[in-house]
Amino acid sequence: RIAYVNGAYVPLAEAAVNVEDRGYQFADGVYEVCLVVGGRFWDEEGHLDRLDRSLAALEIAPPVGRRALRLIASEVLRRNRLRDALVYIQITRGVAARNHAFPMRPVPPSLVVTAKRFDLEKSERLAAIGVSVVTAPDIRWGRADIKSVSLLPNVLAKQAAAKAGATEAWLVRDGKVTEGASSNAWIVTEAGEIVTHPATHEILSGITRRTVIDCAEALQLKVVERPFSAAEALRAQEAFLTSATNLVMPVVAIDGRKIGGGRPGPMARRLREAYIRHCAGR
Ligand code: PLP
Repeated sequence: RIAYVNGAYVPLAEAAVNVEDRGYQFADGVYEVCLVVGGRFWDEEGHLDRLDRSLAALEIAPPVGRRALRLIASEVLRRNRLRDALVYIQITRGVAARNHAFPMRPVPPSLVVTAKRFDLEKSERLAAIGVSVVTAPDIRWGRADIKSVSLLPNVLAKQAAAKAGATEAWLVRDGKVTEGASSNAWIVTEAGEIVTHPATHEILSGITRRTVIDCAEALQLKVVERPFSAAEALRAQEAFLTSATNLVMPVVAIDGRKIGGGRPGPMARRLREAYIRHCAGR
């Protein structure tokens, strides 16, 4: 496998950044994960716009323009002979002698792009059975809307889920489910409302989330952006999660309790199909 690191395409096993990279020492950087299917980037603009927003929030200047970044990502895919892939883009503030404040004289940001194979059929098989989640306290900082590489709370929550045999952790703050450790959380109420947490500073505003809202509205389904509690989720008709990696994925159990009879619901299936149709340009 080949990675792009600061201007060079190198074997992944040799791809490295400096030990004084601020991403390594302070998690001072941001990232994006984009899905590519059949060589086509899904929700490309959304992901690149969010990357710009995350960089701006941390006052990191984009190391390359959007066109160049797109070309680099395409070249990484070409060199890895990938048509269906998850592209990982990471930008950190750069290399400087360790000191918390930004370097006095700005240093060039570090840019890394890698890709790994994505299997849409496997994802479809998983979506046919659904996944389980467990709840975990949301102990993250107040700017979860920045897609920062500072992911320790997410790592710990995901590990708790893995330990419990679940796929995802739904993070709970002040009694409300904010989102998953690496996805957005949704329920469908008895009244048929599709509910997900509003895009505040408390969640990462998912690109898939946004497109799924648009798809739902195009289908004249009712989406309500409001917080919901874990108790409400347990009573829900359906639950699902969204992310670039999972598209729309039915959730069939929360904390070991079945949702919707333990089977994927019709709304999640419908939205998944609509999302795929939208992104694949079908
Ligand atoms: N929330 C968190 C914390 C995430 O890490 C992610 C993506 O990895 C998402 C939500 C979903 O965002 P997207 O749909 O843009 O992949």
